[in-house]
Amino acid sequence: MSERLTTDVAIIGGGTAGCAAALALRKRGLSVVLLDKGFCGAGASGVNFGGVRRQGRSFAELPLAARARPLWDRLPELVGEDGEFKATGHVKLARSEADMATLETYAQGAAEHGLDLKLIGPNAVRDAYPWLGPKVVGASLCADDGQANPRLVGPAFARAARRAGADIRELTRVESASFGGETFETVAAGGLRVESRWLINVAGAWAGKVAEWFGDPAPVATLAPNMAVTEPLPFFISRSIGVCGGDVYVRQVDRGNVVFGGGAGWGDIDLDRARPLAPTTETAMAKLIDMIPALKGAMVIRSWSGLDGEMPDHIPVIGPGLHHPRLLHAFGFSGHGFQLGPAVGEVLCELIVDGETSTDIKAFAIARFQ
Ligand SMILES: Cc1cc2nc3c(=O)[nH]c(=O)nc-3n(C[C@H](O)[C@H](O)[C@H](O)COP(=O)(O)OP(=O)(O)OC[C@H]3O[C@@H](n4cnc5c(N)ncnc54)[C@H](O)[C@@H]3O)c2cc1C
Repeated sequence: MSERLTTDVAIIGGGTAGCAAALALRKRGLSVVLLDKGFCGAGASGVNFGGVRRQGRSFAELPLAARARPLWDRLPELVGEDGEFKATGHVKLARSEADMATLETYAQGAAEHGLDLKLIGPNAVRDAYPWLGPKVVGASLCADDGQANPRLVGPAFARAARRAGADIRELTRVESASFGGETFETVAAGGLRVESRWLINVAGAWAGKVAEWFGDPAPVATLAPNMAVTEPLPFFISRSIGVCGGDVYVRQVDRGNVVFGGGAGWGDIDLDRARPLAPTTETAMAKLIDMIPALKGAMVIRSWSGLDGEMPDHIPVIGPGLHHPRLLHAFGFSGHGFQLGPAVGEVLCELIVDGETSTDIKAFAIARFQ
C-alpha cells in the first residue's frame, strides 16, 4: 500500500551532510523526512579515510572547513558521542625541494584565509618524526587538524536527528522527484510519496542524477579512493599524515592498525559498487614504506573503497538549484567532504530557515557549470 507524507523538508541522502542537516532543521523546529537507499552513514561518509583536515584544501573551502572544525570538538554535545575524533594534527610531507616550495606557497595563502600552518625544515622534521624515511625533506603542520572514525560519525548524526524528531527512512530508494508549482513530490521505491516545501539533494555520488531531474547541470564524476588497513602494530604514528601531491596518506588508530589510502579503486554508481584494486594497494604500500620504512613487512588485513562525487574543479556544489530556489544541493565533495559534513548541515539549515548563511559559499554555486 502506498504511503503519503507531508513535511517541511525532504532530504535525499543520509550521509553526514544529510543527517547533520536533518538534525539542524529539527532543532529549528521544521519537520523533516530523510530517505536513504541504504543505511545512514554507510556511503562515503562511513567508509572514508577519516581525515578531518583543513590543510591542503582549496582556499574557497576554508571558510566552511573553519566552521566545521569546532563542531568536531562538540560532537559529544551535538550527537552524544565523540566519533573517536582526536585533534592529532595533520602533517603534509615534502619529498622534494619543489614540494617544499609548494607547501610554502600554500602556507602563505592559507594564512590570508586564517589557517595557521607551521613549516618544518629537513632537520626539524626528522627530530619531530624520527620514523620518517630519508626521502622526506620537510613538512607543513596544521596542529589543530585531526582524524575520526567514519563508521561512527554518520550513524551518530542519524540517531541524533531521529531523537530530535526527524522521520528517517532507510532502505528507501528515491526513484524520482519533481516540483508541482508549490511543493516538491519525492517518490521512493515501494510507493512512498513525500510532499515537501523544500527538497535537499545530498545524495553523494548519485546527486548528479537527482540534479538532472530538475534540469540542473551536474558534471559529477565518480571517485573511488583506494583504502587499506594493516594488522595492529605498536603505536608510533602520532599525526595524520599526507604528502604534497596527495598520492598517499596514512594514520594510525589507538588500537594500532595503520589506515592508509592512495590512488583510485574501481566504482560504478549504477551498479552501486566500489572495490579496491590490488595493484593500487601495492603501489600505495610501496610509497608508504618509502615514507615510513618501519612499515615494511606490515600485513594488510583489509582493503576497501567507496563512492564520492567529484566535480571538475574539485570543490562542491552547495546552494539553491538554478530553477527552483527551494531545491538545495550539497554534493560533489570530491573526496574531502567528511570534515565539512557537520557544517554543511548547518549551512543548509540556515539557507532554509534564515534565507541566507553566515558562511561564504559563493564559490560553490551550481551556476558555475551553466
Ligand atoms: C574511500 C574514501 C575516502 C575518503 N577520505 C576522506 C577523508 O579522509 N576526509 C574527508 O574529509 N573526506 C573524505 N572522503 C570524502 C567524504 O567521505 C565524502 O565527501 C563525504 O562523506 C560525502 O558525504 P555526503 O553526506 O555528501 O555523501 P554520502 O556519505 O555518500 O551519502 C549520500 C547518501 O545518499 C544516499 N543516496 C544516493 N542516492 C539515493 C537515492 N536515489 N535514494 C535514497 N538515497 C540515496 C546514499 O545511499 C548515501 O548514503 C573520502 C571518500 C571516500 C569514498
